[in-house]
Amino acid sequence: MLLPPIMNSPPAELAEVFSSIQGEGELIGLRQVFIRFRGCNLQCDYCDTPTARTGEPCLMEQTPGRRDFVPVTNPVALERILALVDGWHRGWTGVHHSVSITGGEPLMNYEILHSWLPELRAFLPIYLETNGVMHTALERLIGHIDMIGMDIKIPSTSGCTDLWDDHRRFLEIAATKKTVVKVVVDEQTEDWEIERCAEIVRAVAGSIPLILQPVTNPDNRIGISPVKLLEFQEIACRNLHDVRVIPQTHKFMGQL
Ligand code: SF4
Repeated sequence: MLLPPIMNSPPAELAEVFSSIQGEGELIGLRQVFIRFRGCNLQCDYCDTPTARTGEPCLMEQTPGRRDFVPVTNPVALERILALVDGWHRGWTGVHHSVSITGGEPLMNYEILHSWLPELRAFLPIYLETNGVMHTALERLIGHIDMIGMDIKIPSTSGCTDLWDDHRRFLEIAATKKTVVKVVVDEQTEDWEIERCAEIVRAVAGSIPLILQPVTNPDNRIGISPVKLLEFQEIACRNLHDVRVIPQTHKFMGQL
């Protein structure tokens, strides 16, 4: 495919670009191209994403899924990403379901994404993985996004507080596209937090799937009892009919 000329597309601070299996949410099991942006606007207690460091190169996989990473100086130009995705798209036809725009919090780069997403979307659908807070940024980009996996951060597990209104506004915009909501839960999670999450989702659209994701400990074991998970699902099901319990499967499989 002949790449069109790109005008005024700023480069981006990236952490990683690679091909892997989606391990969370509704697209679980599908192969995606992951573009992981640096930086985040939150500091969750359970964060395992080393994206805050600056001054480090982007690790870019050369062959999809073969982990032959090479360091690329940041910031990375869109042309470099498009050349990679174009090569993978032609050489591994039909393998990738979509491009996952992830982080960190990718919406912190909304001005860059405004020019990047239409170019990437020419190859594959765009799946946004987000902490579900930056609703103003989402509003500006929603026309370039196909699917959204958004978090609701509850205080007990994330340590983040007072994000309920931001999440609700975010979901109202996200719901115009195919969207799934994810909540990380652990033994400290309280019933009222699950109730509030379910109420927020139901208020926007009761058909939106709510995924309860048990926290994964550093030793890759689930950090919540099986009974507690079942109880939380029962609470959420009082308000919603599509409530799923799905762990971070990529960690068990040794995927990125
Ligand atoms: S939103 Fe995600 S990347 Fe940001 S601190 Fe929380 S877990 Fe880490």
